[in-house]
Amino acid sequence: MDRQLLSKILAQMKKHLKEGNEIGDLKSGALFALGQQLDAIFYYLGHELGTIIKVKEIEDLTKIPKTLKKIISEYNIGKVEITSSTEEIVQLRLRNHSSIKDLINKGIKTNGSFCSFEAGLLAGVVENMSDIHCFAQEVNCCLQSGDDFCEFMIVFQKD
Ligand SMILES: [Zn+2]
Repeated sequence: MDRQLLSKILAQMKKHLKEGNEIGDLKSGALFALGQQLDAIFYYLGHELGTIIKVKEIEDLTKIPKTLKKIISEYNIGKVEITSSTEEIVQLRLRNHSSIKDLINKGIKTNGSFCSFEAGLLAGVVENMSDIHCFAQEVNCCLQSGDDFCEFMIVFQKD
């Protein structure tokens, strides 16, 4: 699933609806961005789970990485390392999370992103704590790269 593309298309759809324009073609584009169904379903599931993990709302966005780390450890989501964080994007590495736990180091290779459940989960949790719409995408999956971590990017969507 291409979250970035999907997000752009959704923003376009919103604009078109508001202006009373057709969104038919954009719907097809959005389907394309969703990609494999299973991938989208796992993201959705993770996101739903993330939104029921209650976190106190944080107004200072710079405190998000610290709180996110706490939540990830509290719920045993994986071992996390925040690699960069700005007002727009949080990037992190995750190890030992549920999507890859039983698959890593078994010679299994995937094409592209595999851990969309965790991506959705991260987006849901951060959305909850920031009250800003977010999307997350796995930018580097260990099952593809052979690294011992998966890398995620959480993007705050301000428009
Ligand atoms: Zn992964």
